[in-house]
Amino acid sequence: MMKRKVAILGSTGSIGVQTLDVIGRHPDIFEVELLTANNNWELLAKQAKRFNPNSVVVCNREHYGNLSQALEGEDIKVFAGIDSAVDLIRLSDTDIVVAAMVGFSGLRPTIEAIKSKKAIALANKETLVAAGAIVTKLAKENDVPILPVDSEHSAIFQSLQGEHAKVEKLILTASGGPFRNADKESIFNATKEEALRHPNWNMGAKVTIDSASMMNKGLEMIEASWLFGMPSEKIEIVVHPQSIIHSMVQFSDGSVKAQMGVPDMRIPIQYALSYPYRLDLNAERVDFPEIGQLTFHTPDMEKFPALALAFEAHKTGGNMACIMNGANEAAVNAFLKGKILFGRIPHIIEKCMQKCPFLKEPSLEDIFSTHLEAVRTAQDFFI
Ligand code: MG
Repeated sequence: MMKRKVAILGSTGSIGVQTLDVIGRHPDIFEVELLTANNNWELLAKQAKRFNPNSVVVCNREHYGNLSQALEGEDIKVFAGIDSAVDLIRLSDTDIVVAAMVGFSGLRPTIEAIKSKKAIALANKETLVAAGAIVTKLAKENDVPILPVDSEHSAIFQSLQGEHAKVEKLILTASGGPFRNADKESIFNATKEEALRHPNWNMGAKVTIDSASMMNKGLEMIEASWLFGMPSEKIEIVVHPQSIIHSMVQFSDGSVKAQMGVPDMRIPIQYALSYPYRLDLNAERVDFPEIGQLTFHTPDMEKFPALALAFEAHKTGGNMACIMNGANEAAVNAFLKGKILFGRIPHIIEKCMQKCPFLKEPSLEDIFSTHLEAVRTAQDFFI
């Protein structure tokens, strides 16, 4: 396997840190070219010293002084601002860009990376939710692969390897999150601590809250639809609390293929980085007798209305999923800051989907303005 140069956008987040863990285990195969972070300049500096990238970017300009001071004497170029990150992606000879920023902010750098023909390891699902039609078309035009990092999509991608058969259905598994067994009322009034307590996966705050509301599975349904060219009617969501089967593909002969493993994000991250090869990883192994049983059930859309909203938004098409995503980001933020109750997140999203102007065929500019409009509209409800 040829050596691969990697850029990580969002290196101090949960996916970024785990990506560097994978890279650190295969120094003969991966080389870090670029690291970017929003605010956490201290960790960024530490990562830069350890992995010696060509350049680092802290997007929040306030931290430029601190970061360049921390990296004084190192042979690493230091920049600030999102524009620098975008320029560096364009100019660097990176082989693969790991898009691991949180939320809508990942869209623009991902688009630039595609335009400059860099392979994308996509962890930022909001990019495809907000602008799936535009991003997938652009990737096709530029002949750029989008390799899934999200565990479910990696499982589907792995199950599709070597297949030329017709896919009948994608089966996305969901852990059900911390409120799988809770009643409607306690979900509505859930505290931040409860919502952040995910039973199986160790992830960042935004995706953990999305998992608790099951909006995460809605976003992933839309992501899967764009990645694999399947309509939402052919994507089934199944709650599987053990999180051992990471998703499945059903073919036209009734065969179902699944990818399994312990819930460890380093597995899908590494597969995206090493594809089409598979490298060693010291992840924990599945102990089937120890687990005893794998169980499945249909999600309760009444308890988790965010999931139904995602199906509705995707069916409506146009900029509706972008409206939904923007409203969700704003509402999750407000919840994390203690401004709204957990149960109001889907209500606010629904209101924004009704209020924001619908566009059947939005341009990329329309997508950016739709996002701002959705965030602004959601803010009217934080009282
Ligand atoms: Mg996932």
